[in-house]
Parts: sequence; structure tokens; C-alpha cells
Amino acid sequence: MELKQGDTIGILGGGQLAQFLIIAATKLGFKTVVFDPSEKSPAFRLATKYFCEPFSNKEALKKFSKMCNVVTYEFENIPISAIDTIGSNCTVLPNIEALRIGQNRFLEKNFAHSLGIKVAAFSIITDSQDLLNFLKNNNQCGLIKTKTSGYDGKGQMLIRGPKIKSEVLHMIETHECIVEEFLEFESEVSIIAARGYTGAVNTYDPSINFHRDGILISSKVPAEINRNIKLELALIAGKILDSLNYIGVIGIEFFLTKNGLIFNEFAPRVHNSGHWTLDGCLINQFEQHIRAISGWPLGSTKRHSDVIMTNIIGNVIDSKINGDKSIYNYGKDEVYKGRKMGHINKII
Ligand code: AMP
Repeated sequence: MELKQGDTIGILGGGQLAQFLIIAATKLGFKTVVFDPSEKSPAFRLATKYFCEPFSNKEALKKFSKMCNVVTYEFENIPISAIDTIGSNCTVLPNIEALRIGQNRFLEKNFAHSLGIKVAAFSIITDSQDLLNFLKNNNQCGLIKTKTSGYDGKGQMLIRGPKIKSEVLHMIETHECIVEEFLEFESEVSIIAARGYTGAVNTYDPSINFHRDGILISSKVPAEINRNIKLELALIAGKILDSLNYIGVIGIEFFLTKNGLIFNEFAPRVHNSGHWTLDGCLINQFEQHIRAISGWPLGSTKRHSDVIMTNIIGNVIDSKINGDKSIYNYGKDEVYKGRKMGHINKII
């Protein structure tokens, strides 16, 4: 399959990632249709057409999929049932298996482990006894994470010491959770990679990432990490993409520890830590994704500039930001704590 001018790309989810995908798709001559349940979806402003319907509305999903030559998604918490419905009319990329694994931390860690990629010690917990057992074997320390729907540090709780607080108990009673070894890492790094129809893989330079309260604050390229680590990141990305028979862009996050790289998670989509590519590369991650899912050859991932990307979180973006930085305002009308409102790229 190779999309041609005037063909239509469907996007599930209407946030900022969808906005950038629409810009890239439009640049390449495609039309776009966005599907999102929220009437405030910022991407509705840019799409050729949009559906403001819940993901449970099968009729709307069918109608949407019949308009599209290919469908993709901008976030991983799309119900699998929606993908099944769309999949009977239209190809969904990245494939459903990548999404199924990428939306569940337990499957994701098992998957990485099965490929021989190092992960933090982890265990599924169904009750407080499971948790106590894990803590006993891990210096009475662990991070509880919900198996699904967690992002930006949401759905996580750190435990230090053998006492289990009531909020932790409540979390494991009301959600399916895993507990994970708390790592004393040196830094956090990620790599954005793409795989095309022919199986060709291209990787961008890895970035070093800084988080606060589980939310990405900034990403910097080049990352000041050893050359061999950079190579290992690219090899791991290739391994993951090939084994999923993946088509599209992926974002993969790691911890760098004194024992080397530890896989944290992957996002089967374009990724916040790849926003630097908007100003650091000729072909940014959004255009790369559109190229990949359209059956086009992948573009160059060469970095022409060093960049620091900084997220603007919970604040209005004003004109006082210096003109030496490139501003991206997502156009969200409601500002609240922890909400990503935009980002800025600075060439360094
Ligand atoms: P996640 O949702 O898994 O990406 O976690 C959000 C952030 O929490 C990460 O970027 C880290 O800063 C921190 N974090 C997650 N897992 C661990 C871990 N096992 N040990 C230490 N910090 C972690």
C-alpha cells in the first residue's frame, strides 16, 4: 500500500500529537479525519473532518474508518474494541498487537524481558501479601503502577518501608497493579525510532530526559552518554520494532544505571521526548510517522542542530518568551496543574 495525494489518514485521539500529525500529513498532501470523544480536542481545529463521539460508538467508528485509507492513533489508551471495529474496514498502524502490549505495563515488561532486554524487577500484585513479599525481597522499597491507563506519573505510588498505607491498599483493591523495583538511576534516556513497510528501521539520536513528579520537563540532544550506550539503544529499538512487525514511529524510554540500560516502557506512537525533532531534523518524528504508515520510504533522521525541548506545563504561554526559541502552543483553552500546554525548542 502506498498512499497518494488526496488520500485520507484517520487519527484516533485529538490532542497535540494529533495536531502535529495533521500538519505533517497536510504537508505531504493527505487529508485527515480525527476521532475523539472530547469536544475540546485541539486537533479538531486542523483536521479536514472530525468525529466527536465516544470510542464505544461502533456506528461512528465504522463511518470514520470507511473514510480513511489508513488509521493511526496518537495515544495508547484507545480501547482495543474500537481498533477491532475499525480494523474490519481499514488498516490500523501501528498494529493492534503493539497497542495491546504498549497499553499494559505487565505485558510490556514481559515482552521486553522475553527479548533479552533488561527490565527492573517487577511483579503483579493482587493483594497486600503479594506486595509484602515483593518488598521483603527488594529492600522494602517499590513503586506501584497501575497496569493500564497510567501516564505522566499518574497511577503511581512509591513505597518505602514495610508499612502499607491505606491509599496504597485502596489503589491495589481498585486497580490491577504491578510493583516495580525503585531504581537509583543516573539519568533517563529515550529513543525515537521508525519502521517502514519494507522493514527498514531508522532511529533518531537518543535524548536525555528530565522529569518532575513523573512528568517530562525537558529533553536534550545530544545526550551526553557513552557512544556504546547510544548504539545499544538503537539496537534495542530495532529488536522491538522487528519483533512486533511494527510500522510507524515508536518512543522507547530507559533508565541509565550503573549496571547499564534498563527498559522502562514504550509508547506505540510519536512521543513527547521526540518534539526536539521539529527543529533539530529535516524530517521530524511526525512526518516520519506519516511517511511510515503511508507506505512511503522513511525520511532522514539526521540531526542538524543541538536542541533543548522544554514543556510548558500548567501555564499560559505568552509572547514574552524570547524570539530565539521556537514556540509551540497547543491551543488548549483550559489551563490546569500538570497539563501540557505547549513546548519550546531552543537550538543550543
Ligand atoms: P512511567 O510512567 O513509568 O514513565 O514513570 C514516570 C516517571 O517515574 C519516570 O520517568 C521516572 O522518572 C519515574 N520512575 C518510573 N519507574 C521508576 C522506577 N522503577 N524507579 C525509579 N523511578 C521510576
